[in-house]
This record gives sequence, structure tokens and C-alpha cells, in this order.
Amino acid sequence: MLTNKMIKEAALAAGADACGIAPISRMAGAPDDMNPKFLFPEAKSMIGFIFRIPRGVQRGIEEGTQFYQYPSMAYGGINEIFAPSVLYQVGKVIEDEGYEAFIYRNTGARGSVSDMDGSPGNSLSPEEQIKVIEQAKKATDHHRSVQFTRATRDINVAPDLQFQFRLAAVACGLGEIGWSKMLLTPQFGPLQRIAFIFTDAELEYDEMYSGKPLCRKCMACVRECPGSCIPAEKTGKKITVDLDGKICEWGDIDMWRCYAFYTHGGRYYNPFVPKEVFDKNENGDLNLLEGKAEASEQEIMKVYMALEKYFPSWVGYNMAKCGGCIRACVSMLEKKGGCMDGRFKEPLRTKKAWKLDR
Ligand code: SF4
Ligand code: SF4
Repeated sequence: MLTNKMIKEAALAAGADACGIAPISRMAGAPDDMNPKFLFPEAKSMIGFIFRIPRGVQRGIEEGTQFYQYPSMAYGGINEIFAPSVLYQVGKVIEDEGYEAFIYRNTGARGSVSDMDGSPGNSLSPEEQIKVIEQAKKATDHHRSVQFTRATRDINVAPDLQFQFRLAAVACGLGEIGWSKMLLTPQFGPLQRIAFIFTDAELEYDEMYSGKPLCRKCMACVRECPGSCIPAEKTGKKITVDLDGKICEWGDIDMWRCYAFYTHGGRYYNPFVPKEVFDKNENGDLNLLEGKAEASEQEIMKVYMALEKYFPSWVGYNMAKCGGCIRACVSMLEKKGGCMDGRFKEPLRTKKAWKLDR
């Protein structure tokens, strides 16, 4: 008989760092377009897997010496290689017992609604747009959502259905959402990525996390965001979600603004772009990064077009150069006592965080 214990043992043996199991009904409050129950209507259980991001993958950014390892290993590596292999192994254990394992890796794919703002249809993808213009000779626009998708049956949900990974992880009892909107877990703080399996097997379920709050509401993430994308708690700008009785709350981040800053850092945090380029700000292309324009797809397109050539490395994912909110969070949780307390012999940060003098 398939049990919670069997699945967790298989998950850890295959290389996951933690695993939690929930009834899929815990996601019932999600909008239909983002409710995983529509993926597989017979599914009864949702299994969440945690894959740690090694703290050292952030070291190069923390020191200002190497920016490639974090996006390639912690985004690309986990999403594309490490996590899928674990899902595959655990899926076999489930199917050997006669149940189906609907594997759902972290896709990076486009859904029926934009993953940026939930809007349907024509939501541009700035980074892909550049590739299209350069490589596909303007033949096709690339969007953050699949524009012409239609429901295939009487349920009113169109493919490809994407759901809110972090809330699903909370539902599986794996952690809580921090003020920065990152998933925080007792084992790894903000340092992990996640993936899921849905199955028609009915299992023993884990409770949602109910220990000491994992987020200290210290606002270090707010202070260290180079784009001021995360509002402070005192502004009252927050998102609140009732997840089957568990209240989840986070700062109402300006997602498009983060989109520009986490890839491009801005004047003080992008050592790949000469100071003169920011000074010149040709055609006002860098107005968004320079605090002279609000975030919009159009402004972000201008930033991407202007700065792409200064960092021509791709890992299939945006080349994140920021990680400010994550590193701030790790550092604070290590120093002030929190879920990162005592994990490492030396703290992540032993000196003042760098900022370019220009
Ligand atoms: S990833 Fe960077 S830009 Fe985005 S919220 Fe975090 S610190 Fe700000
Ligand atoms: S930095 Fe502080 S406020 Fe922000 S998510 Fe981490 S613990 Fe919460």
C-alpha cells in the first residue's frame, strides 16, 4: 500500500531535501485558471518537493565577483535537471503501486494567464522578445501567456494551466510566505526551489506549518532591493490570501519593476554596464532603472534592448544579477535568529554589502 512515508523516503533517497503532502482540496480557494485540481480532476493528493539552493551559489553575487552560477545552477540546474530527475523517480514509486503520478516540474512555460500579473492574452515577455528580434527576424512575438488558448471541455479552464507554486508549497506544509513573497522554510529559509506531483492516491496528509513565524518582518528585503520593488509593511501595501484557513501575507511587490531590476540591477548594482551608459541614458531607455519612469512592459523592453549586449550570457533563464532580497533575508535570519540560525559556521555576510561608487 502506498503511504506518505514511502513517498517521502523515495523523495529524499532520490535527492529532494524535503517533501510534504496535502489534500488537493487545500487549493480550492485559488482562481479556476490557477487551481491545480483542474489539471487532473481525479487527483486527491498534492506532493510538494523542496530542492535547496546551496548558499554558496550566491557567494559570487555577494562578493560582486561572479554572477553566472546563481541563475545557471539555482534556476536552470534545479528546474531543468535536479528536480525533474527526482520527480521521475518518485513518480515511478507511485505508479508501481497502481496510482497515477502527474509530474509538474517548475516549467518556465507560459500559462493561460500571465505569470506576472494574472492577465490573459497579450502580455509581452521582454527577455524573449529580444531573442525573437535578434534571431527570428521579428517573425513572432513572444508573450508571457499563451494568447489563443481555449478550454478543451466543459470545464472553463484553458491550457496551459499554471498554479501558484509557493502557496502550493505552503499547502503541503513545507513553509510560509515571507514579506518578500519568497517561500521560507524552517530548513533553508529563502534558499530553495520547488516542484510537485499530483496523484489519485489518497494519502496521509501533513499539517500546514504552524510554528514560530518564519518571516521576522525585519524589512531587510525591502531595504536591500535595488529597485525599491517591495513596499515596507508600514505602507499597508500587501497581499493577503486565506489558504484553507491559513492566512498568508506578503508585500505587494511591483513585479514588473522587479523584472527589470533583478536582471539589470541598475546603476549601483550592475558592474557589467559602464557608468557612462547610465549617465548618457540614450533615448531615455534607462528611465525605469534611473527612477524616471514607472514600470511597464514598454519601459522594460527599452531596458532590455539597451542593456542586453553588456551581458550576453544565457542559461535559458533570465540572468539574475540581483538576489538582493534573498541575500538580505539569509543574512538577517542568520544574524538575528531565525530559520537560518546556526546552519553555517560562518555567516553569509561578514562585511558591508557592496554598492558601486558612481
Ligand atoms: S529580486 Fe531583486 S529586484 Fe526583485 S524584489 Fe528581490 S531584491 Fe528587488
Ligand atoms: S528579509 Fe525579513 S521581512 Fe523580508 S522575507 Fe526575510 S525575514 Fe521576512
